[in-house]
Amino acid sequence: VKTLGRNSFQFFDPEMQSSAQERLEVEKGLHQALKNNEFELWFQPQVDSHDQILGAEALLRWRHPDTGIIMPGNFIQIAEESGQIVEIGNWVLLQAFKQLASWREQGLPESFKRLAINISPLQFMQVDFVDRVLQMLDQTKIPGLLIELEITENMLLNNFEIAGNKMKLLKKRGISFAIDDFGTGYSSLRYLHYLPLDILKIDRSFVTGLCPSSELAAIVEVIIATADRLNLTVIAEGVETLSERSALMELGCNCFQGYLFSKPINATLFYQKLQAANKT
Ligand code: C2E
Ligand code: CA
Ligand code: CA
Ligand code: CA
Repeated sequence: VKTLGRNSFQFFDPEMQSSAQERLEVEKGLHQALKNNEFELWFQPQVDSHDQILGAEALLRWRHPDTGIIMPGNFIQIAEESGQIVEIGNWVLLQAFKQLASWREQGLPESFKRLAINISPLQFMQVDFVDRVLQMLDQTKIPGLLIELEITENMLLNNFEIAGNKMKLLKKRGISFAIDDFGTGYSSLRYLHYLPLDILKIDRSFVTGLCPSSELAAIVEVIIATADRLNLTVIAEGVETLSERSALMELGCNCFQGYLFSKPINATLFYQKLQAANKT
């Protein structure tokens, strides 16, 4: 992030180490963003093997007044480190529920099962996280069955028990849980059976270039077999080609998310797509 002047900055490579000054600029920007309503949720379809849309993942976008759309890779980590992710994450939850409520009013096809929402470690660990989610469900009158929360492996490791308890409380209201980016964290297969998970998302790094005879396929096969035994639904992330899709199907995975089907799109476009795809 490079400072250009008051309230204005440019974003470079997200991997680039940013200076303390640059971080401060982003933090200030995020503060403004919350105040000025600069965040948006986009939606990426999750489809089955018949291209029916089963659900969507809500993905955060920051529409900056000077620089336009800023991707989460450029600010989520800074927000996590500054603590701002808690407030941002609460905005995401409420916005997602409100969007869902509005779609329900317009009519949701029965094939649409769930809206997935990313939860940051810091947000999940707040003492009032469960109460807040339940309160927002009540406020928007959304059935918990329509909600899936995506959490990552790393946030679970030190907090098995606390995490499990929170999950159980939310599951009582019908909310389901997905383990995100599976296979990329400090993986411990142990938590898979300790925690009340429903869905396992195979990370894009296992999907890119996948073909049935490869060594990668051997790993994916084990992941899918393990998930099956544990009664977890598997969703493959980052599916970009037909051959990746067919390799995944051959290995027993029938839920997909990726550019092959759709990039993340705004709420209006998503609803149109949903109507069109699920007509038959
Ligand atoms: P994620 O949760 O793993 O989300 C999937 C990311 O992969 C999204 O990037 C999506 O646009 C991208 N993607 C989907 N299909 C494909 C594909 O076929 N090819 C490629 N190359 N990429 C694909 P996005 O939207 O930039 O989000 C990046 C990350 O930012 C997310 O990764 C998630 O960790 C985080 N994030 C996004 N929204 C939120 C949010 O509301 N709260 C929190 N805490 N984190 C969020
Ligand atoms: Ca995710
Ligand atoms: Ca992911
Ligand atoms: Ca990822």
